[in-house]
Amino acid sequence: MEIDEFRRAGHALVEWIATYRERLARGDFPVQASVAPGELIARLPKSAPESPEPFEAVLRDLESLVLPGITHWQHPRFFGYFPSGGSLSSVLGDMVSTAFGVVGLNWQSSPALTELEQVMTDWMRDLLGLSSRFSGVIQDTASAASFVALVSARERSSEYGAARKGLQGGGAPLVVYTSTQAHSSIEKAALLAGFGREYVRALDVDEEFRLRVIDLEQAIRRDREAGLRPCAVVATTGTTATTAMDPIEPIAAIASREGLWLHVDGAMGGSAMLLAEYRHHWAGIEQADSIVVNAHKWMTVAFDCSLYFVRDAEHLVRVMSTNPTYLQTAVDKLVRNYRDWGIPLGRRFRALKIWLALREQGAEAIRSKIRRDIECAHWLAREIERTPPWRCIAPVTLQTVCVRHEPAGLDGKALDEHTRRWTQAVNDSGRAYLTPAVVKGRWMTRISIGSEHTSQRHVAQLWDLMQEAARSSAAVTGRS
Ligand code: PLP
Repeated sequence: MEIDEFRRAGHALVEWIATYRERLARGDFPVQASVAPGELIARLPKSAPESPEPFEAVLRDLESLVLPGITHWQHPRFFGYFPSGGSLSSVLGDMVSTAFGVVGLNWQSSPALTELEQVMTDWMRDLLGLSSRFSGVIQDTASAASFVALVSARERSSEYGAARKGLQGGGAPLVVYTSTQAHSSIEKAALLAGFGREYVRALDVDEEFRLRVIDLEQAIRRDREAGLRPCAVVATTGTTATTAMDPIEPIAAIASREGLWLHVDGAMGGSAMLLAEYRHHWAGIEQADSIVVNAHKWMTVAFDCSLYFVRDAEHLVRVMSTNPTYLQTAVDKLVRNYRDWGIPLGRRFRALKIWLALREQGAEAIRSKIRRDIECAHWLAREIERTPPWRCIAPVTLQTVCVRHEPAGLDGKALDEHTRRWTQAVNDSGRAYLTPAVVKGRWMTRISIGSEHTSQRHVAQLWDLMQEAARSSAAVTGRS
């Protein structure tokens, strides 16, 4: 593409994106994609074009082929999974990053990439109320960050065993502790880091879905008595199903007493620590060895952008570093080489999208948006609580409301079917999008609030829709 053509096509594309966002705000699209599996595959050519095609043809296909297959996460009535940052300023930041086309192999390969990342992670650390004992790096996802955390834990407990015999070195098995409510990425990280499922303890939770500290203490004691080596504990700030907050302070005290690595998965709930009034949930956080917070969830920054903070950067570098000669430079001792702070060698210039998002909005606007979402969640929870047989099945800690409609006489499997049926009906209507989940063996529905343009009006529309869908579903069962 020549520069002049880029300028023309680029303007057209930005215009298309702007119009797309306007149409989203007007509610022009069904929130959930309404395509069947394989539909796009069937409509695309079987092979790549041999000759150039006009950009207009691509734009047309974006509209007619791709758009129908999009579930619109930025729609104001998207309440599924978790919020996905999509501020237009961060979209522009991502665009610049791709336009530079640089690959962060080391500081020298693009000094600004490293130094902006260093400053952005410092800004974010300060905004989250963490002290300067922590240093940060941007990872793609929380899953990758948690994997790095558990490898770091393993290496600390094994005195850098990877540099010797690694998993083949023998020694008593190392154990990881977390709760049944931890995200699946934690189990995955533990398995990939070589701990083995037998040595991952998913501990029970209390009535508010928080890790039970007494169970943690007992599990550690039992494992020590059995000759095992407790290695790491993963606490969650904002669990995936219900946004429960594990109590960091007592967990940190146990980790410190027992010599365990403490990793805090704040992928979702960590963003709430931008608010001083929520920081009590992070009492004890300064004792954590590592923390992950996804800027790409609730902090308005476009996917992917995961903030990973560590207390001992030297240890991280020792675990992650490989130092091939072609990457060594004269300034290595003066700079950060972020390739040694995670898994990939080549790194994107992700700090740009944080920089643009923060400068365009200011931190206070992000705090206000988070407060707005929390208020909307509390409003909905109040409506639900005063409208039996609706029930909130978990405390509303942040912006997620976990709900069940429980008509008299409906329980067990029939209640599960009812829950899934009315939720599906909401999604199929195209007017809102929700995700159901199983908690303590029973289906419930999560309403996760946080799309950029969601206001209380949209939440009220959802509430009407939920009641309508539940009434119709209950009528199928002959209950109401
Ligand atoms: N941890 C928690 C608590 C989450 O809610 C999620 C995503 O939903 C993740 C980790 C995984 O995040 P990522 O997609 O960035 O790996």
